[in-house]
Amino acid sequence: MISIRNLHKRFGDTEILKGVDLEIAANEVVAIIGPSGSGKSTVLRCLNFLEAPTAGDIRVDGRLLGYVETPSGDRRRLPEADLNRQRAEIGMVFQQFNLWPHKTVLENIIEAPILVRGTPRDEAVAIARALLDRVGLGHKADARPTTLSGGQQQRVAIARSLAMKPKVMLLDEVTSALDPETVREVLDVIAGLAKEGMTMLLVTHEMAFAREVADRIVFMDDGRILEAAPPAQFFAAPAHPRARAFLDKVL
Ligand code: ADP
Ligand code: MG
Repeated sequence: MISIRNLHKRFGDTEILKGVDLEIAANEVVAIIGPSGSGKSTVLRCLNFLEAPTAGDIRVDGRLLGYVETPSGDRRRLPEADLNRQRAEIGMVFQQFNLWPHKTVLENIIEAPILVRGTPRDEAVAIARALLDRVGLGHKADARPTTLSGGQQQRVAIARSLAMKPKVMLLDEVTSALDPETVREVLDVIAGLAKEGMTMLLVTHEMAFAREVADRIVFMDDGRILEAAPPAQFFAAPAHPRARAFLDKVL
């Protein structure tokens, strides 16, 4: 579903991603862990073309992200409208929920399907209500986001992302800004998505959760993937010394 080949990203003189390779199969859940500043968020942002890679290929469901390839093998940036259509297939949820405070929960969810996908309003509303039920917030459709707890707002943000029917979900530390008592309700929603077969790439500091939900753990440090292994294997016996040092600190 996702193929990342030799991904490099440079900001000014600093190389942040130094050649990242990662394949994610359909229905697979991959958790990226690693020290702060190692480039985890940058990988996710490149996957949604919020950052343009300096070099390398990203393919989503076989299609090159962000560029059109000419018959001669050159690349041109995709026009913005096409890029937005590609982005719509890749849901992204951040630490900050970024909900519109002046709109209701329901309005937050239906906006992109109507504006970007051209979904008829009635249909968008029906989908949004079903998604709100699924994240346990069917009763909050008409509430303003600011009246909800952090965990509830993050569940709305997940529902909003799902409303676009993405092929893949990218989740960047979605529980890091939450009060401890609301973390579990968000993790339960993500675990439910995993069970239903959603392809997901998530960055998390919740090691127990990564172990529970991921098919594969990817350890990043200093702009590179140093290790990728099934959770049982990774957490029992990380092969790379830096992965061992990291786990010693966080577990
Ligand atoms: P992580 O998510 O693993 O904590 P990030 O991907 O956010 O790491 O950041 C990796 C490094 O890239 C950090 O040193 C950060 O300061 C730097 N960085 C991220 N975004 C930018 C940017 N837009 N401009 C300059 N430096 C950036
Ligand atoms: Mg980050």
